[in-house]
Amino acid sequence: MTKDSYDLIIVGCGMAGAAAGLTALKEDLTVCIIERKKSEFVGRKICGELAPLKMVKWLEKEFSISLDYYSLKGLEICTLSGYVDSTQGVARVRDPLCTIDRWQFGQVMMKELLRRGAEFCHEVVTGPVWRNGVHGVKTHGRSYYGTLTVDCSGVFSALSRGLWQGLGSSSSIGLGYKENVILEEPIPKEYAAIIFDNSIVPSGYFWFFPKGKCELNVGAGGMALHCAPFRKAVNQVLKSYPCFRVKEKNSTGYGALPLGAPLSSMVAPGLLVCGDAAGQANPLTGEGIAPSLNAGHMAVTTAVEAIRRKDVSVAALWKYNYDFMQKFGRIFGSLLPLRDFMVSLSVKELKLLLQNVITDEVLYELEENEPSYTLKTILTTAANAARNPSLLFKLGRAVGRMSILRAIYDRYPKDPRRFPQWRQHAAAWGGL
Ligand SMILES: Cc1cc2nc3c(=O)[nH]c(=O)nc-3n(C[C@H](O)[C@H](O)[C@H](O)COP(=O)(O)OP(=O)(O)OC[C@H]3O[C@@H](n4cnc5c(N)ncnc54)[C@H](O)[C@@H]3O)c2cc1C
Repeated sequence: MTKDSYDLIIVGCGMAGAAAGLTALKEDLTVCIIERKKSEFVGRKICGELAPLKMVKWLEKEFSISLDYYSLKGLEICTLSGYVDSTQGVARVRDPLCTIDRWQFGQVMMKELLRRGAEFCHEVVTGPVWRNGVHGVKTHGRSYYGTLTVDCSGVFSALSRGLWQGLGSSSSIGLGYKENVILEEPIPKEYAAIIFDNSIVPSGYFWFFPKGKCELNVGAGGMALHCAPFRKAVNQVLKSYPCFRVKEKNSTGYGALPLGAPLSSMVAPGLLVCGDAAGQANPLTGEGIAPSLNAGHMAVTTAVEAIRRKDVSVAALWKYNYDFMQKFGRIFGSLLPLRDFMVSLSVKELKLLLQNVITDEVLYELEENEPSYTLKTILTTAANAARNPSLLFKLGRAVGRMSILRAIYDRYPKDPRRFPQWRQHAAAWGGL
C-alpha cells in the first residue's frame, strides 16, 4: 500500500534518480521512486559504460556500494589510424577510468534503495501536479504527492518539457549506436579511445572502450541533426581492421543523450531537475553517468535543507543551480566550441593537430583549466609547428570562445534575481 504523501518524489531510477534517492534516505527523508521500467530491467540502457574510477570509489565511500569494473589508464583522442598505430598521432588524458556493466550497476543501486526503505512504483509519469508550483506527479491512474519532486526521467524528460523552453530541440540531442563485442584474440589496450573521422561519422565520433582483455564496448554517435548510419559505420570499422576479429556481439542498439549546454536553471517551485533531463552530459565526450550521479546528490543535499525549513521556493533551491554550474556547468558550457571545432576537422587536419599541437597536456588543460592560458600554450606550440595557419586560426578562435564562455559560467549568479541578466548574456555568446 503506497502512502499519500512523501518528502521526495523521484521520477526515474537511472543514475541521477538512484543517487538522489540514496542521498535522501541517508537523511531519513521518505522517498517514492516512480519508474516506468519493470524492476528487473532497471539499469538496462544503451551506453558506452565508461566512467571515472573516482566515481566508483565515491559510491563505495558515500553509500557502501561496490561494483564490478574494468580499470583503464585514461582516455585517448585519435584518428582511426592513430588507434591502431599510436605513432600516427594520439593525445591522452591520464585520468584513471573504468568500464562498468550498466545493467548490473542499475540493479545494485535499486536493491540498495529498496533495502534502505524507498518505495518503488512501476508506473509512467505523465506530468506534474501543478498549483503555483509542483506538488507531485500524475501517472495514468493516480497522483503522487511530495514536498519536493526530483525529475530524473532522462533525455526526454517527463516533467520539464512544459516548464522550460530550449532543452530537447533536435539541435542539442545526440544519438549513439553501441555494440558489446567479444573478440577472438585479446587486444592490448589500456586506454579508452574516442576516435574522430568525419569521413565516416560527420559531427560525431567512434568510441572503443575495453571491458576486458577480449571485450569492447564499441559505438558511434553524434548530433541527431547529422544522424549518420552509425550501425553501418561501426561494422565498417570493425571489418576494416584485422586486429578486431569478432567472435560474438550482444547488447546492441541506439540511444539518445543531451549534447548541448545544461539547462540554465534546473529548479522551479517544488521541483529539481537532474541528469539527462537537465542536459547534464559532457558535450564533447557524451559522459553523463558521473555528472548525473553528482547532480542527484547535489540536488538532494539542497532539498534536505529546503524541506527542513519548509521553503521549496526557487530561491530556497537555487544553491543546487549554483553548485552544479561551479562544478560541471562551467566545463560543459565552455566545451561546446571545442566540440564543434573537433567534429568540423578533416582526418588530415586532425592528424596534424594531434601530432603537433594538441598534446596530452594541452588536452588536460582545455578540460580542466583556464582556456586562455591554454591558448598561449597552443599558439607557442603551433608557432613551432607552423604548417597550417588557417587551421590554427580556427583552433585559436574556438579556444577564444571557450575562454569567454568559461568566464560567463564562472559568473553564474548566486542570487536568482540576477539570473535573467546572466541568461541573456550567456545566450548572446551561444552558451545556452
Ligand atoms: C549511446 C550512448 C552512450 C553513452 N555512453 C556513455 C558513457 O560511456 N559514459 C557516460 O558517462 N555516459 C554515457 N552516456 C550518457 C549516460 O548514459 C547518461 O548521461 C546517463 O545515463 C543519464 O542518467 P539519468 O539518470 O539522467 O538518465 P537515465 O539513466 O536515462 O534514467 C532515466 C530513467 O527514467 C525513467 N523514465 C523515463 N521517463 C519516465 C516516465 N515518464 N515515468 C517514469 N520513469 C521514466 C527511465 O526508464 C530511466 O530508468 C551515453 C549515452 C548514450 C545514449
